[in-house]
Amino acid sequence: MASQRPIVLITGASRGIGAAVAQLAAQRGYDVAINYRSERDAAELVARVCRDAGAAAVICQGDMAVSADVIRVFDEAQAGLGPVSHVVNNAGITGRSSRLESASDETIRACIDINVLGALWVAREAARRLSKENGGPGGSIVNISSVASRLGSAGEYVWYAASKAAVDALTIGLSQELAGQGVRVNAVSPGITRTEIHEKSTGDAERVERFRAKIPMNRIGEPEEIAEAILFLMSDAASYITGTNVSVSGGR
Ligand code: NAP
Repeated sequence: MASQRPIVLITGASRGIGAAVAQLAAQRGYDVAINYRSERDAAELVARVCRDAGAAAVICQGDMAVSADVIRVFDEAQAGLGPVSHVVNNAGITGRSSRLESASDETIRACIDINVLGALWVAREAARRLSKENGGPGGSIVNISSVASRLGSAGEYVWYAASKAAVDALTIGLSQELAGQGVRVNAVSPGITRTEIHEKSTGDAERVERFRAKIPMNRIGEPEEIAEAILFLMSDAASYITGTNVSVSGGR
């Protein structure tokens, strides 16, 4: 089905920040492709909310750490909605928190696989398909980094902080490669945001609240507040902005 509306593909959009981006994008006039890895029902619920807001929405299962899945998900998004014009490179994990000396090979590798390799596979496919030079529609890519890339996450997940530093470098380099091809590339670096990522990293649902004292605004961010910055960078209001990295972190 061809669409006149801009089309955004969001990776890891079954919950958390990705789901908030999908819902806000639908409200702002985008059609949305919702990638998920394991939670089909959750992804379908996000799609229903998007449709209720007047958007066309498809869900696309795929592990973004696997390059063949990335290509298939872009193909399915295009088949369902039309040519993708915006990509939010959001899927990511921290792994079980610990000091680096105690982290297992598996924990570190799983994080690097999705946060670094996955981010590169998704950005590469977006570059191939969005670039006007390749016959694409142009548009924008927003990579989801973290303030961890500047703070280092000592005692929590240094490997995760390192993975997000790679996302920062990817954003700068790719923005320059695509600047002449009608594609803007930016990053958003959330601070502590109320999602399930924290409970998954520690098994402790209250952990997120203990961070309050480290946040100048003395509160945890909401996924919708991160989504606002992402939607701004995707929009024409940001038409001269590329290669930047916006912290949404309550001053942290
Ligand atoms: P979340 O609630 O745990 O959601 C993460 C999403 O990514 C889920 O939908 C998850 O689905 C998906 N995902 C994970 N691995 C995937 C894979 N290999 N392929 C496809 N999807 C995958 O986390 P979140 O807080 O919204 O995090 C979103 C992004 O924001 C991440 O890049 C994270 O590093 C970043 N961030 C978050 C915070 C924060 O405080 N929340 C702060 C800074 C940065 P499955 O479980 O099915 O895999």
